[in-house]
Amino acid sequence: MKRTKIILEDNDIPRQWYNIMADMPTIPKPPLHPATKKPVGPDDLSAIFPMALIEQEVTQERWITIPEEVLDCYTLWRPSPLYRAHRLEKALDTPAKIYYKYEGVSPSGSHKTNTSIPQAYYNKQAGIKRIATETGAGQWGAAISLAGVFFGLEITVYMVKVSYNQKPYRRISMETWGASVYPSPSTLTNSGRAILEKDPDSHGSLGIAISEAVEDAATHKDTNYALGSVLNHVLLHQTVIGLELKKQFELAGDYPDIVIACCGGGSNLGGLSFPFLYDKIHGRELRVIAVEPESCPTLTKGQFRYDYGDTAGLTPLLMMYTLGHDFVPPGIHAGGLRYHADSSLVSQLTHDRLIEARAYHQTEVFTAALLFSKSEGIIPAPESSHAIKCAIDEALLAKEEGKEKTIVFSLSGHGYLDLTAYSDFLEGKIIDCSFPEDKIKEALQRLPVID
Ligand SMILES: *Cc1c(COP(=O)(O)O)cnc(C)c1O
Repeated sequence: MKRTKIILEDNDIPRQWYNIMADMPTIPKPPLHPATKKPVGPDDLSAIFPMALIEQEVTQERWITIPEEVLDCYTLWRPSPLYRAHRLEKALDTPAKIYYKYEGVSPSGSHKTNTSIPQAYYNKQAGIKRIATETGAGQWGAAISLAGVFFGLEITVYMVKVSYNQKPYRRISMETWGASVYPSPSTLTNSGRAILEKDPDSHGSLGIAISEAVEDAATHKDTNYALGSVLNHVLLHQTVIGLELKKQFELAGDYPDIVIACCGGGSNLGGLSFPFLYDKIHGRELRVIAVEPESCPTLTKGQFRYDYGDTAGLTPLLMMYTLGHDFVPPGIHAGGLRYHADSSLVSQLTHDRLIEARAYHQTEVFTAALLFSKSEGIIPAPESSHAIKCAIDEALLAKEEGKEKTIVFSLSGHGYLDLTAYSDFLEGKIIDCSFPEDKIKEALQRLPVID
């Protein structure tokens, strides 16, 4: 059985990013200053972001031109391939057509280079010397470390401690590309030291690591901060995925009924789905599904409220689905999905019912990952495997209903640096953490009050 691969030419890389704010029925409420609780202005953000990115954060222009220097880097791995998963379809005996857009072909192994490259570019343009950032599973840290090499920036990475220990190869990739990597919570920042004082054994969280990186950037003039997900400009950059995908579906003479992606902060989901949501907003029928872990169920069990992006409350307040900024999710293997909140854009679109959300447990996700890798060969990232599980469920439902359906999911990264997780699963060591209801309830009580 042949695997259908739909590839584009080099000059088919999109020249512009798509900004969904031009078309959303409801624009998200503005970010608020953490101290005054008033809307933040560009000046509030300029201590940690270059102006070009601040503009992209707020603009409602539909199309944003991609700089030539960024396009040059994109050609290293873009356009990324779209595959039809014939063997998976056969294994499931489904009438559904399953496609996946594979972002694991990027040098760092995930979609995150789509935004690390432009972020490094705009910071370099602004005369910045160093970027401080956080990383969960290490995918973002690796992506920004590589971008730092291309544009001559120093990179400092605060890596969530549980991943630092579980995923040494990602740390080594970052160091190979020249970055300095510290386990978070660290003793280098006030935020890190405060956490360690309360809990010396803290295994960290993205929220804590963000506090450390923001503090580092805010206290050094030549240093800016960069975020790998959540923010509007990050999702904007990721739309190269969905724009390519639309062209690929045209080539294949097909169009999706269901578009699926895992959701940590929402960037691969936004990147894949926004160009299709444009069609949905303009009357075309299709479903977009965000998939998250049952142990960190932001969209399915969180509240749509203003909250901080980090644990210490240093970042602006964003209007988003949240489990509470000091909620520390269990140490599951899909580290990239352990974030207490979600992008404002994805949250608003979910609130407006343009995006659906669902949550799965770890073991059923790994079971799906094994079936996928035995059918298609690629070992998927544990994060992406959430999307695989959902695609499989939808394909099985199509079989039950006897319906032909076209399903596409984002294979946001490969899992070749996550083999410890697979080994744990194969040895039966991966268990389902139940939904941490009490801890979430407590954290939600500490949400900031906005009047
Ligand atoms: C970081 C990451 C995710 C989750 O982040 P989003 O911003 O929600 O896309 C998903 N998959 C992979 C492979 C990742 O590295």
